[in-house]
Amino acid sequence: MLLLAHTLTGAVIGAKVSSPWLSFALGFTSHFLLDAIPHWNYPVPQRIHIRDFIVFWPDLTAPALLVLAFIALHPSALLAICFGVTGSILPDILTLTRHHVSLKRIFAPFRKFHEKIQHEIPFTPGVLVQIAYMLVLLALLRL
Ligand SMILES: [Zn+2]
Repeated sequence: MLLLAHTLTGAVIGAKVSSPWLSFALGFTSHFLLDAIPHWNYPVPQRIHIRDFIVFWPDLTAPALLVLAFIALHPSALLAICFGVTGSILPDILTLTRHHVSLKRIFAPFRKFHEKIQHEIPFTPGVLVQIAYMLVLLALLRL
């Protein structure tokens, strides 16, 4: 799933769950459930060049703005939102350990598991699934 969908999930969890650590655990767990849903994701190259950020920046800046918006709307849940978002995106961040000499081997089983649960589909249905998911999540937040 896109970073935006994971971030929204973590922010919603944080806004609804007052405990930061519970929010973190739920956000972390949610990541794997979401990645198992058929979705589209942009390919992350083995070596990231500056020009690659043209592809990535919308999926980096939109989540950052989303977190700021959630914190502004739910200031008392600041810590829970930050922990929820951290948990929800941590699995994707850990996949970057493949570029680190010593962390590469330690996290290899985790990366293998993370890659195995991915269910990627073509762009249009894969993005529509994520938009629908985020709209449902936002609707649930209002309940
Ligand atoms: Zn993932």
